[in-house]
Amino acid sequence: MNIQRVSDTLGRLKAPAFRLEQLRRAVFRETSASYEEISVLPVSLRQALGQAGPLLSVSAQAVLVSGTQRAHKASLKLCDGQEVETVLLRPSPTRWTTCISCQVGCAIGCTFCATGLMGFSRHLTPEEITDQVLFWRQYMKQRGLEGRLDNVVYMGMGEPFACYDNVSESLKILMDQRQFAVGARHISVSTSGLVPQIERFGKDFPQVNLAVSLHAADDELRDRLVPINRAYPLARLGKALRTYLRSSSRKVFLEYVLLRGENDRPEDAERLIQYVKSLGPLELLHVNLILFNQTETRHGACSEESARVFHKRLRNADIRATVRQNLGRDIQGACGQLIAQAKH
Ligand code: SAH
Ligand code: SF4
Repeated sequence: MNIQRVSDTLGRLKAPAFRLEQLRRAVFRETSASYEEISVLPVSLRQALGQAGPLLSVSAQAVLVSGTQRAHKASLKLCDGQEVETVLLRPSPTRWTTCISCQVGCAIGCTFCATGLMGFSRHLTPEEITDQVLFWRQYMKQRGLEGRLDNVVYMGMGEPFACYDNVSESLKILMDQRQFAVGARHISVSTSGLVPQIERFGKDFPQVNLAVSLHAADDELRDRLVPINRAYPLARLGKALRTYLRSSSRKVFLEYVLLRGENDRPEDAERLIQYVKSLGPLELLHVNLILFNQTETRHGACSEESARVFHKRLRNADIRATVRQNLGRDIQGACGQLIAQAKH
């Protein structure tokens, strides 16, 4: 929902100010799915709002639910007919998280990522980004799924810092108390390492969690896996992260997808340990080891046993680390598996 458009429509119709409040309450607290449903508003207002545009800028083409019921993936159609995917996750019985997309495709081209393979089509607007959260809240209400959705991760399709302005606007909308009211600490933005935007983000959103997709701690390998490394190599990234840690004192999450025979060897663990130690206080750094989710690429997953050994090496070096649970693999909804169905 574009609150500015709604407010302009109400202004044009000379509706009293409390109408906007009623509408906000209906959409963001009671999770009404359409203007017609908002019965506290006069019919004429509901019709005028409907004519100005639908409440949700996205519409579900298909929803898949994983066998565990802990991951739901939707393909959403945008107003120009393109599609993006978005995921609703239940990492624990009482917690819901959504993994949202910010671009159709992605231009960064990480070699192991399905989104990267499809190339880049366009940025999502702030409304399209935040409407994914609204979509899932409505979905949960319709399905009678209990609990509240108030964790958001920008880890779907696209590179958030390649569309910084739209993502920045969407963050403001999500955190706005009169709209989504999601706490800054419940939001994480994941980047492949665009240094100038990391610096901006540290100043603009010091309370929002930052995750950096590292995947390799030597330039030669990272150049190949995460091509943005050629523009912003590890030393530059490290400098930006040190500054970020000093000024925000917030934890930084480093993501590391374990690829068999490529970055999962003892020497890779050692390089990672040295790199992490060069960044700042270890209590402010957390490595998320991700098991590779199958994509149509040349990469292979390391075994769970190798992941455990790699994990142990980090822990023995006093590095905080976890092996991330992969929800939604059976519906191609896990990290790096999202694509636009229409192009599949
Ligand atoms: N573009 C951003 C955020 C989206 S990707 C970024 O790259 O950080 C979210 C996470 O999934 C990133 O850490 C990404 O590297 C990881 N990922 C991509 N493909 C994957 C795959 N096939 N298996 C596991 N993780 C993957
Ligand atoms: Fe883009 Fe992230 Fe996929 Fe890399 S991992 S191609 S940055 S979406």
